[in-house]
Amino acid sequence: MSFSDSRPPTPAEIGVRGEPKACGGCTLCCKVLGIGPNGKAPGALCEFAVVSSGCSVHPTRPGNCRGFQCIWTLAEPLGEDWRPDRAGFLISPRPDPAEIQIVLDPDLPAAWRREPYHSQIMYWASLGEIPVKRVLLRLDGRVVVVFPEAEIDLGRPIDPHFRVESGYEVREGRRQPFARFANRYGALPEVVMDGRRR
Ligand code: SF4
Ligand code: SF4
Repeated sequence: MSFSDSRPPTPAEIGVRGEPKACGGCTLCCKVLGIGPNGKAPGALCEFAVVSSGCSVHPTRPGNCRGFQCIWTLAEPLGEDWRPDRAGFLISPRPDPAEIQIVLDPDLPAAWRREPYHSQIMYWASLGEIPVKRVLLRLDGRVVVVFPEAEIDLGRPIDPHFRVESGYEVREGRRQPFARFANRYGALPEVVMDGRRR
């Protein structure tokens, strides 16, 4: 299956796992994530990454690198144009598999708005329930929840193991999207009910 098919794949379908794809020359996770041997900041390319080639210390790379596998490598229907270094973003696993988390390259923050990505991401965002409850964008540590009609910027989570609640509610007589950080007990008191449109 590919995105040239008439119907975009559902998230359940992208979750089909076979043999992981090889990373090829992609090094995007070595830039956008805080992985690597020396605790580098997310957004800075690891000193051992060779762009278009890969990791120069691959056999001895640290455990936090070995432990990361982006969704593109695992999802057969995501074709070559979704390889993270070509797309300009990666899709990262979340503890809740019904969330799609898109980690943006700070040098290409609008890459996800290009096609064929934007239509597919909006399709996921429109589902609103299992198999996809929500789509999250991550940029510079911030969390943005994507709805078909809005993007709600929640800012930087205090808890690295943050949870998000989102959906629709009636405010001022209109059905409007909401999103907020939550903890295991439910919504946090300092909820963010509205975000700004980016
Ligand atoms: S972002 Fe994905 S494809 Fe690219 S190097 Fe990391 S795991 Fe491999
Ligand atoms: S050590 Fe290798 S795999 Fe790990 S972040 Fe650096 S380049 Fe990437």
